[in-house]
Amino acid sequence: MSIVYLNGEYLPMEQAKISPMDRGFLFGDGIYEVIPSYQGKLVGFGPHIDRMNNGLNSLDIQFIYSHDQWREIATTLSEKNGAGNLGIYFHVSRGADTKRNHAYPEDLTPTVFAFAFEIPPEPVADRNLVKRYKVSTMQDLRWRQCNIKTTALLGNVMHYQQGYSEGNDETILYNERGEMTEGSAVNAYIVKEGKVITPSLDKQILPGITRLILLDVLRQQSSIPVEERVVTMDELRNADEVWLSSSSKEVVPVIEVDGQPVGDGKVGDIWQKAQALFSAHKYNY
Ligand code: PLP
Repeated sequence: MSIVYLNGEYLPMEQAKISPMDRGFLFGDGIYEVIPSYQGKLVGFGPHIDRMNNGLNSLDIQFIYSHDQWREIATTLSEKNGAGNLGIYFHVSRGADTKRNHAYPEDLTPTVFAFAFEIPPEPVADRNLVKRYKVSTMQDLRWRQCNIKTTALLGNVMHYQQGYSEGNDETILYNERGEMTEGSAVNAYIVKEGKVITPSLDKQILPGITRLILLDVLRQQSSIPVEERVVTMDELRNADEVWLSSSSKEVVPVIEVDGQPVGDGKVGDIWQKAQALFSAHKYNY
């Protein structure tokens, strides 16, 4: 039985209830995070909480737990749910109102929900074992503030579903200028002539914590050059390697884009090095 956290209490999932008037339900008015926990060891905890606080500030949701309070919840959920390989999900919505108004009153009490779910074992840098991704591409039709990790994910869901219905594992998105942004639930990278290139942080992409850790590890622990800049869709199509990253996947190699092989269609050497470096250093963040 899964034990969850709701507004200060730990209780069985079936007993956790929230109001249908919650603005998270009615408007997707909230912020969430997913933090990987392998045998109780968290990856990127501090940056995840910082990003959640930035998002809450951006949405003007007046709510802050300290890092220690969030850590306590993560640790307790891990202990109560078997302490294996878990994703720790945190969700803060603006709370329940008495009426459905787009405008929100100042004095709502935010709803805080957290639960743990099983995730696969830690990824390893082994080209024979890694799952190889195939992706579709689509113009990015989501809203224009993708740097905020809001729970209003319908645009992402629609993009993901489109790629999935074409038999792909993710959808890489591009803007109206034909520049790659990110995937529906991942950041995206190309490798060209040994250099790792990924779009710069702006309102078009989520500042991924895996991206943050990966770029830092590559810069501090390797001689692999890294560039943050515009990546065109032509560059994506001519890349030697393409990668995706997220907390639940770490770094994954893409071998096919829109049915065409990436490079020689095999998992690349630089991916192998990057995932190995990520595995070696991720707990330092
Ligand atoms: N981009 C989007 C749209 C996402 O939803 C996510 C993760 O949910 C990411 C990128 C990767 O972010 P992180 O590495 O923090 O999991």
